[in-house]
Amino acid sequence: MTKDKIVLPGEQVSTSEELGPGEGTFEEDGIIKASRFGKYQVDQKNRTATVKPLTSVPVELKKGDIVLAHVGMVRSNMIIADVIHVIGQKRAISGDTNGTLRVSEISQGYVKDPATEFAPGDIIRAKVTQVKPSIQLHTKDRDLGSIKSLCSKCRHTLQKKGNILECENCNNKEKRKAAQDYGTFDPNKL
Ligand SMILES: [Zn+2]
Repeated sequence: MTKDKIVLPGEQVSTSEELGPGEGTFEEDGIIKASRFGKYQVDQKNRTATVKPLTSVPVELKKGDIVLAHVGMVRSNMIIADVIHVIGQKRAISGDTNGTLRVSEISQGYVKDPATEFAPGDIIRAKVTQVKPSIQLHTKDRDLGSIKSLCSKCRHTLQKKGNILECENCNNKEKRKAAQDYGTFDPNKL
C-alpha cells in the first residue's frame, strides 16, 4: 500500500510481519487494520502502521450533509453509527459524531428489524436529517446505505452479487441495505 492513502475503518493497511500496530490501527489475525478514517502513514522510526486524522480546520456537521458513518451497535429499533466523514470535505469533524439511524429511516420500504439491513462494522453513506440535540441519519435513497460490509464469519469484504452480498473467501451470503455503488467507493477520490 502506498503512503498517505486515505483509508476506511476496518481496512487492511499492512500485516504484522511488516509493521506493528500504531496510532489509529489495530491488529486482527496478523492483519493491521485502520481503526479510524484517515491517512495511512508508516512510522519508519518505530516500524508501525498509523492512521492519522485528516488535518486542517475541523468541519461542523449540518442538516443535509451526506456523510460516511461506521456502524457500531445494531438495536431492535435503531442503529448507532459514528459519523467519520462529510463527503466533499477533506477535514475532520468537530464535536459530537454519534449518529442515530432509526428503523423507519433505513429504507423506502418497511423494515421490521435493523439487523436485516446493517451489521456492526458496515461503512454506510447516509444523509444528516438533524444535528441537534442529536445527530439523526437516513439511508432511504438509492445512493445511500452500505458502501462496504465485512463478512460476519471471516471478516473479508463482501462483494455485491445482484441484491445480495457474497463473501468470496467463505461463500457466506448476507443481506444489506446497500448503496447502488456498493464496492466501488474510493475514499481517495472524495
Ligand atoms: Zn466470509
